[in-house]
Amino acid sequence: MASRRYMTFKSLGLSDALLKAVTKKGYTEPSPIQEKAIPLILERKDVLASAQTGTGKTAGFTLPMLQILSSGQPLRHRPIRALVLTPTRELAAQVHDNVKEYSEFLNIRSSVIFGGVNQRPQIATLKNGVDILIATPGRLLDLLNQGALSLSKIEILVLDEADRMLDMGFLRDIKKIMGLMPRQRQNLLFSATFSKDIKRLANDILNHPILVEATPENTTVDKIIQKVYRVAKEKKTGLIIKLISEGDWKQVLVFARTKHGANKLCKKMISDQISAAAIHGNKSQGARTKALAGFKDGSVRVLVATDIAARGLDIPLLPHVVNFELPNISEDYVHRIGRTGRAGAHGEAISLVSADETSYLRDIEKLIGMKIEKQIIEGFEPDPNASTEPIKQGQRSGRGGSGNRNRNSNAGGNSNRRRNSNKPSRNNNRNANRN
Ligand code: AMP
Repeated sequence: MASRRYMTFKSLGLSDALLKAVTKKGYTEPSPIQEKAIPLILERKDVLASAQTGTGKTAGFTLPMLQILSSGQPLRHRPIRALVLTPTRELAAQVHDNVKEYSEFLNIRSSVIFGGVNQRPQIATLKNGVDILIATPGRLLDLLNQGALSLSKIEILVLDEADRMLDMGFLRDIKKIMGLMPRQRQNLLFSATFSKDIKRLANDILNHPILVEATPENTTVDKIIQKVYRVAKEKKTGLIIKLISEGDWKQVLVFARTKHGANKLCKKMISDQISAAAIHGNKSQGARTKALAGFKDGSVRVLVATDIAARGLDIPLLPHVVNFELPNISEDYVHRIGRTGRAGAHGEAISLVSADETSYLRDIEKLIGMKIEKQIIEGFEPDPNASTEPIKQGQRSGRGGSGNRNRNSNAGGNSNRRRNSNKPSRNNNRNANRN
């Protein structure tokens, strides 16, 4: 870490136009993942990176990608030369926003395509020629099948949040898409976790990859205060409202397991005069963008999200994250609480845990390698007679909470498999890429 103090973006070999954009963003020094990944990508190496949202991974691949694309001779018809695949619409839109900002002083065109919105404007933009395309796999494949674009000139492929793409059942789509690209290209794979499936995908597509790892400085054990409130299921809503009102929390991200649960909680908060918005797969793109904008500018105090919808959301420095329900996949817990205490600040991650979530809690504690402090609030005690059997239906609706509806059943299958037969441990989660 000591060397980081002396590292600058300039020393990583970035051009003046990119340095100008980075300065404009207000970044003073590269993050660990940027420090490691940028020089390797500039050397045209394939990179397998272990990095979660919040580590600065987007700039980690975007900056060198822009440098590579802008350094050669501009091609006349602007074929797509770089493709970034992301699991969700939100992440695609955010990566595109970043690409636009970082390429402000370059002659580079970029575009984004994702499902859930009219495809005609997307096709029209592609016709004009773009250098960088950011896309979700489903819509990209639709448009490829229609002949709306060609990937025959791809030089750089980025798979962002590859673990999520597999969880969402995109493996087949990704393989089909890869079959439409030149074999000779640079591949960058970013993933927060390294399951067997990810390792297999990495083996299939990466060419002598260099592994880079950026465990966020604020890992669960360090800068995040974690608490569990044991509570009866039917008292959770009352408890969360009490915590938010009495603690005077201004910006709270709440995770719910299902879309329906997220809506219900949101309505109840609004009826209790707490400004809230829900973000999940059934919401239109417009509604999601509006909710996120409100949350960022402070007009929405509570954002209630499902796991997949929350992935990749660009919301820096959250003081409070609440698990209204625990995720049934332990790794999701780590993703969720990684949203708090960013950039060195302390954050608080609170979980409301009812009897039927006992086994989820045990799995999570095993994964993070520590016991979480448990408390009971007077008036919101757990139900001593409630069953500790896990909620059966929740497993399916957990993954189905958002994202592409067609893929939910598929993804649910994956989730169950992972939870039951391939239980992650802290070590294999962090170090899988070294094994
Ligand atoms: P990401 O992990 O790419 O989602 O980035 C998380 C957040 O960190 C985003 O809000 C970025 O704008 C911000 N960020 C990225 N790189 C840096 C940096 N070097 N210094 C400060 N903030 C950064």
